[in-house]
Order: sequence, then structure tokens, then C-alpha cells
Amino acid sequence: MDKATEKLLARYRVEHGKGFRLKDHKPGDTGGIELEKDGAAEMLAKGVQYLADMQDKLYAQDRWSVLCLFQAMDAAGKDSAIKHVFSGVNPQGCHVASFKAPNSTELDHDFLWRHQQWLPQRGQIGIHNRSWYEEVLVVRVHPTILAKQKLPPSLVTKRIFDERLEDIAAYERYLARQGVVVLKFFLHVSPEEQRKRFLARIEEPEKNWKFSAADVQEREHWDEYQKAYQEAIRATAAPHAPWYVVPADRKWFTRLVVAAAIARAMEGLNLSYPELSDADRRGLVEAKEKLLA
Ligand code: ATP
Ligand code: MG
Repeated sequence: MDKATEKLLARYRVEHGKGFRLKDHKPGDTGGIELEKDGAAEMLAKGVQYLADMQDKLYAQDRWSVLCLFQAMDAAGKDSAIKHVFSGVNPQGCHVASFKAPNSTELDHDFLWRHQQWLPQRGQIGIHNRSWYEEVLVVRVHPTILAKQKLPPSLVTKRIFDERLEDIAAYERYLARQGVVVLKFFLHVSPEEQRKRFLARIEEPEKNWKFSAADVQEREHWDEYQKAYQEAIRATAAPHAPWYVVPADRKWFTRLVVAAAIARAMEGLNLSYPELSDADRRGLVEAKEKLLA
């Protein structure tokens, strides 16, 4: 990874949450880069190809896995970031799971249960569109959701969200120790840009299906969400499970940062194709002779 990209990523990566403030991060930031549409597409295409190459080795090696969590306010561009960044990755080597409000079976279990089932196998990339962080975001902002979670009342105290954050941090540390590379992306959009994107969903017929009046309602809780995100990042950012606070007002930039961050993490694994043993090599020679005979 070149120095300029490394430096750029460092602006958005949070590995130590203490004192983290969301207001130090600007949704419209593009790291001093101004690219034409074509320039951005070209750069992203390179990143996508690079990711595809590394994913091939990840798969062949079958030791590490990579888990990418995406969190954001509505219309911040999670779906389109996922669509573009992973467009070159072999579908056999990755999996996307989207987490909506839990169903009744899921509510009959601890909150990590449903997420655990979608963790990537060794050699795979797992993409989680929303994640266990919803448990300290939407649930924190809406106490009625917590009330429906069937927890024993004595366990629901004032500390419940601090406890959840503690549990999430511990779980992510556990995953890291198991060879799951955890990367967490918060796509940081401004309320003004969200407003524009909602209006576009109303005005452009091919975007109508994406519009939801409930999302507009949710805007009223903007500040509470931002506070909840800040708390979550403070409590769970770690070198083994970093957050990336990705500026999300310019979609081309969001995608570049996400792609680069994943590339950086995978580079850190020193991936390579498995080396054959002498016996395996002899086997290849014998097989070749047979095929040629
Ligand atoms: P889009 O950006 O396309 O709208 P989305 O991720 O918002 O995609 P939706 O079906 O609109 O998908 O919304 C999923 C909803 O499920 C979100 O409002 C989210 O807050 C909610 N949700 C996710 N996890 C939980 C949870 N653990 N408890 C309660 N609600 C949750
Ligand atoms: Mg939605």
C-alpha cells in the first residue's frame, strides 16, 4: 500500500476509542482529493481487482476470514458501497447477510445468536449489512424495542447498553483470536445529504421503491443516533477490531475508502498461495505423466 493511501486511511481509522468525538469527522471530507467521475471509477476498479486477487489467496489458504460490518443512518450508501466494493470478488468466497428487526425465534435467544450463524468460514469474506451494533443503536434510541426483548427484568438496568458494548468488545476480541479479521465501517452521512437522497427517492421513479416514510420519521432522532454511534465507537474501537468512520456525503469517496481499508487489512495477513510439499510435487509430476500418456 502506498504511503499516501496509508496516510489517508489513518484519518478515518479509530483503534482507540477513548476521547473519540464524532464531530471531529466531516461527512463531506474527501481527504483533499478531487476526482472526476471517471477518475474515481478507474481508481475503484483497481482497488476492486486488487481485493479480488487477495481474496483468491485468502480462499486458497483457508486460515483467516474477514468480517466487514456496515453501519449507517439510512441512505448513507451501505448497499451501494457493498455492491461496488465487492463486485470483483468471487461469489464463492464471500457472503452478504442483512440484519433487519429480529423475528420471534431470534428474540427467543441472546442477541448475538443470529449473527453468529452468519460469521464467515475460514478463507471467506463475510459482509454484514447492519450488525450486532443495532443492539446499542436503534434499541438504545427506542426503549420500546428493548421492552420487547424478553429479558428477565432484573437484568434490564441503567447499565444495559454499557454492558452490551462490553460484551460486543469482548466478542470481537474473541473473534480476532480465532482468526476472524473484524473491520467495522460507519458510513458517516450528513443530515442535509440524507435529505437530498430521500428527496431523490421520491422524485425519481426508479428509486421510489427505496423510499420509506419511516426513514423520514427516524430523522427526528438524528442526534440521539449520533450520540449512540459515538458511544459505540468509543467502547469498541481496538487495534484488532478497528472502526472506520468513512465520510459518506460523496459516494465515490466512500467506496474508495472502504476498498482501501479492506485491502490494507488483508495485506497485513501476508497472504500467499499454499506451498506444496515435496510429496505433493511428486504427485503432480506423476499425474501429469498419466494425463500425457
Ligand atoms: P435500506 O438502506 O435499503 O433501507 P436497511 O438496512 O435500512 O436498508 P430496512 O429493511 O429498511 O433495511 O431496515 C432494517 C431495519 O431493521 C432498520 O431500521 C434497523 O434499525 C432495524 N434493525 C436491525 N437490527 C435490529 C435489532 N437488533 N433490533 C431492532 N431493529 C433492528
Ligand atoms: Mg432502511
